[in-house]
Amino acid sequence: MAGNCEYLMMRSLGHWLVVGALIASGCQKQVESTSKLASERQKMVDEQLKPRGIRDERVLAAMAKVPREEFVPENLRGQSYSDSALPIGGDQTISQPFMVAFMTEQLHLQPTDRVLEIGTGSGYQTAILAELVKDVYTIEIVEPLAKEASARLSRLGYTNAHVKTGDGHQGWPEVAPFDAIIVTCAPDKVPPPLTQQLKEDGRMIIPVGTGMDQQLFLLEKKNGQLAQTAILPVRFVPMMGGEVEKQTANESPSPSASAELRRDK
Ligand code: SAH
Repeated sequence: MAGNCEYLMMRSLGHWLVVGALIASGCQKQVESTSKLASERQKMVDEQLKPRGIRDERVLAAMAKVPREEFVPENLRGQSYSDSALPIGGDQTISQPFMVAFMTEQLHLQPTDRVLEIGTGSGYQTAILAELVKDVYTIEIVEPLAKEASARLSRLGYTNAHVKTGDGHQGWPEVAPFDAIIVTCAPDKVPPPLTQQLKEDGRMIIPVGTGMDQQLFLLEKKNGQLAQTAILPVRFVPMMGGEVEKQTANESPSPSASAELRRDK
C-alpha cells in the first residue's frame, strides 16, 4: 500500500515537474522572442533610420523604445521590424517605420506640445508621438480600429493619448489649437479646419493628392500665413469622408485652404 502511495506521489510529482518544465520553456520562449524583437528594433533604428538621415535623438529614442510588434496583427509579428508598411485589417496599414520617424522629425516636437493626429490606424504613430509630447489627440474614422487602438494605447500606459472615432476633415475644435498636426491618410486638398486649428508657428505634415500622385507637404504657419514645402512623393491610403466639407465647398466659392497657401519651394 505504502509502495503504491509512493508510486502515485512520484507520478504526480513527475507530472508537476513536466508541467513546470513546459511552463518554464514557454516563458523562456517568450523571453527569447521579446529580446529578439528588442534587438530587431534597435537594428531597425541603426539600419533603416540613421543611414537615411533621421538625426533627432528624441525621435530615435522613441523609435527604439515603442514595441511595434504590439501594433501589428499576431500573424505578422515576425515582420514587425521589416522596412515596410503592414496590413492592419479593413484595407488599412501601419506605416513603414522610416516614414513614421521622418514625419515625426519634421514636426520639431517639444515636450510641452499638444499634437493632433488624423488617421490613428493601429496607434503606433500615436505612441511615438506620446513618447515625445505632452498630449496627443488622434482621430480615426473606422470605429473598430479606433477602439482597438485606444485599448492598446491604454494597456501600454499611454495616458496622454486621446483617441476618438470621427472624420478628421473637421479636426478636433474642442481641444484646438495644436502646436503640430500630422495626417497619415491622403486628402486631395488640405482640409481648412486643420489649418485653422494649427497654432501660430505650428507645423503640419500631410500627404496630399490622389492614388499614385501624392506629395508629402510641410506647412508652417507664420504671421497667419501658411508656407508650404513639398518634401517627397509618397503613397498613403486615401482620406475618407469629407462629405460635409465637399458640399460646403460646392455651395460657396470662398477660398479653400489651398488658396491660402504660399509656395516657398
Ligand atoms: N498612423 C497609422 C497608420 C494609419 S493608415 C499607424 O501608425 O498605424 C491611415 C488611417 O487613416 C487608416 O486607419 C484610416 O482608416 C484612417 N482614415 C482615413 N480617412 C480618415 C478620416 N477622414 N479621418 C480619420 N481617419 C481616417
